[in-house]
Amino acid sequence: MKPDVTLSGLPLRPELVGEQPYGAPQLDVPVRLNVNENPYPPSPAIIAEMAQAVATAAASIDRYPDREASDLRADLAAYLGHGLTAANIWVANASNEVMTHLLGAFGGPGRTVLTFGPTYSMYPEYARNTHSAYVVVPRRADFTLTAAEILAAVAEHNPTVVIITTPNNPTGTSTPLSVISDVLAGTEAIVVVDEAYQEFAHQAAETAVTLLPQFGNLVVVRTMSKAFALAGARVGYLAANPAIVNACRIVRLPYHLSAQSQAIARVALANAPEMLARVDELRATRDAMLIRLPQLGVQVIDSDANFCLFGSFADRHDVWQRLLDRGVLVRETGPAGFLRVSVGTPAETEAFYAALSEVLKEIR
Ligand SMILES: *Cc1c(COP(=O)(O)O)cnc(C)c1O
Repeated sequence: MKPDVTLSGLPLRPELVGEQPYGAPQLDVPVRLNVNENPYPPSPAIIAEMAQAVATAAASIDRYPDREASDLRADLAAYLGHGLTAANIWVANASNEVMTHLLGAFGGPGRTVLTFGPTYSMYPEYARNTHSAYVVVPRRADFTLTAAEILAAVAEHNPTVVIITTPNNPTGTSTPLSVISDVLAGTEAIVVVDEAYQEFAHQAAETAVTLLPQFGNLVVVRTMSKAFALAGARVGYLAANPAIVNACRIVRLPYHLSAQSQAIARVALANAPEMLARVDELRATRDAMLIRLPQLGVQVIDSDANFCLFGSFADRHDVWQRLLDRGVLVRETGPAGFLRVSVGTPAETEAFYAALSEVLKEIR
């Protein structure tokens, strides 16, 4: 092969031909409200503790890390509570790797992953990369789900994995626990409840973790990227029956989670109250946004997460661009005509309102 070969000259898997690397734009602008990060970095004391933990890990960095991440899994079990132990927890490089492990173990050729849209735009990638078929059944007009509708879709598509995202991204809509338990009672498929935003929910204590003692096919996926303000460390995890954890252990790459990732996550968990200290403020800002956006004359979807979906605009890309021209980056995603904005610091959120007010005057 000539050294000037391009992608089209390589034996790429046929289903990848024409695919683009996916991701939200990473633009260096003053107000970044496009990927639902927690806008507050750790305190100087916690940063120092993380640096010390990484230095300690570096002292034995010639050795492979604990491939079972046992200490971190025990810490995560303690954080979730409800009597869970390390055997109930699996942890990987953010929830996207956790999901890839789940679909590697329970999806695959000839198998179907079912979910309910509009929802998280990464799921089709996890399905594609694990050679799983991917089916999205539309949610109701208000983006909610009923157990009857979910089970009807399960009967129709016969999935081995069902993903229910609650609070859902990009709508912010929660699915009640009663719906999830009715679904679990009605299917043998693996039911993955993606609770990436659970800490921001109005009823945060109503987590599917409470259903684990009843259902062996339930997987609750969480991340440290959002409420825990640890997006840069790439740590996500699941809670499930130990048999499901063992299935993930089969497909994971050996030593998948680096020593420094494990060390930093353990420091964050040891300081959980402080790492999560801004969650109440972010929830209050979200609640204020649900009132403020309609006052500006735009529709907003009721949200249980740290973002709001708002619209609708005849040309949402134009609105996105006009906000960006004012230094405010939001996300062009979700149903036609809508945009998604993450909850930022008070200053960032005010900058967003100011920019949006100007844009609305221009376009209306
Ligand atoms: C942000 C998000 C995650 C977390 O992603 P990480 O890979 O853990 O950073 C998971 N699920 C949903 C629905 C999300 O929006």
